[in-house]
Amino acid sequence: MDNKKEGSSTNNQENSIDVLHSTRTVIKRALDRLGYPQEVYELMKEPLRMMTVRIPVRMDDGSIEIFTGYRAQHNDAVGPTKGGVRFHPEVSETEVKALSIWMSLKAGIVDLPYGGGKGGIVCDPREMSFPELERLSRGYVRAISQIVGPTKDIPAPDVFTNSQIMAWMMDEYSRMKEFDSPGFITGKPIVLGGSHGRESATAKGVTICIKEAAKKKGINIEGARIVIQGFGNAGSFLAKFMHDAGAKVVGISDVYGGLHDPDGLDIDYLLDRRDSFGTVTKLFKNTISNQELLELDCDILVPAAIENQITIENAHKIKANIIVEAANGPTTIEATEELSNRGVLLVPDVLASAGGVTVSYFEWVQNNQGFYWTEEEVGERLEKVMVTSFENVYRVATSRRVDMRLAAYMVGVRKMAEASRFRGWI
Ligand code: GLU
Repeated sequence: MDNKKEGSSTNNQENSIDVLHSTRTVIKRALDRLGYPQEVYELMKEPLRMMTVRIPVRMDDGSIEIFTGYRAQHNDAVGPTKGGVRFHPEVSETEVKALSIWMSLKAGIVDLPYGGGKGGIVCDPREMSFPELERLSRGYVRAISQIVGPTKDIPAPDVFTNSQIMAWMMDEYSRMKEFDSPGFITGKPIVLGGSHGRESATAKGVTICIKEAAKKKGINIEGARIVIQGFGNAGSFLAKFMHDAGAKVVGISDVYGGLHDPDGLDIDYLLDRRDSFGTVTKLFKNTISNQELLELDCDILVPAAIENQITIENAHKIKANIIVEAANGPTTIEATEELSNRGVLLVPDVLASAGGVTVSYFEWVQNNQGFYWTEEEVGERLEKVMVTSFENVYRVATSRRVDMRLAAYMVGVRKMAEASRFRGWI
């Protein structure tokens, strides 16, 4: 391993420890506010189950490589656990643990009959061939097959995994069990029981949160100035949805930097350029840095890239009235407090990014009943779930005088705590 890689994986390890630590801190605060005793926190601070597997895969050159994989099941008091599987060189046990806790929170916030789960394999899919990825995906399913299943734990796509990988995993599970099991996994291709609207579901959920937040702040979406950090799956779909809704997207960025136009960027053109070149900002001369982008004059700011972007160092420079977190953990706890005290309406990641798992739930319901919905039906149901969830969190934030993150955690832990109590676990 070269030094650069080693450095970045140490960073990632530290980031994962930070994420786990801050998630636990907010869970503790939420449980205290709700009046639950210490043992409820003890139950929730770790996943109930964590499985580590070693997966031998024959590579195309005939050699064998052994990959490490994980599956964490945070809490299954409410129902089966649910959450994505990521393929990434920096996947770690700590990260998978923290993300499984987040999935429990998300499921609680949007009121799905699930607990949280998460999985990952340490690998670099960008450097693997299709047949190698297929063998790895199937090997992972065989390795974790005892603890997963349509009524136990339901995987889904995540970082660097897609509908093709879900298809291989579903096929492997169905072969092992000797019956067709579409409900084993979500995010499948439509022809194998995938749901309409799953691909754009996260961005749709974020869009609905932006509209609801704008209503609360008396901001008209038509003409509202919005800045989006990140132009990946969530960021680019979101730019399109906001542009179509009449908002002015005045700033966007990718890893190479940001573009700014106070009169509004031409999103259709940028999407077209991105499709052909993989990046947008590299094609332009007048770019700004990602830090400058966050501080632009705008009404709505959407961090849709990576964690720890808004910290106590730059929180006071943020001009937006509304921040909607489409990325995981873009704002630190201290920055959340500073912004909320200033009256900025911050919609936290665990609420804003729950559109994906919500449509995954719809996919699972459709698989279980064998009756499929149109794109419009999925869209309407998603809208209902997101609007209701936003309202619930907003109500708790105003009535209990807490910021939206703490309010979301309070909503997120409550059902899990109650279900654990009724089951006699605590
Ligand atoms: N990986 C996505 C998430 O973190 C989706 C999970 C799912 O669809 O179950 O929300």
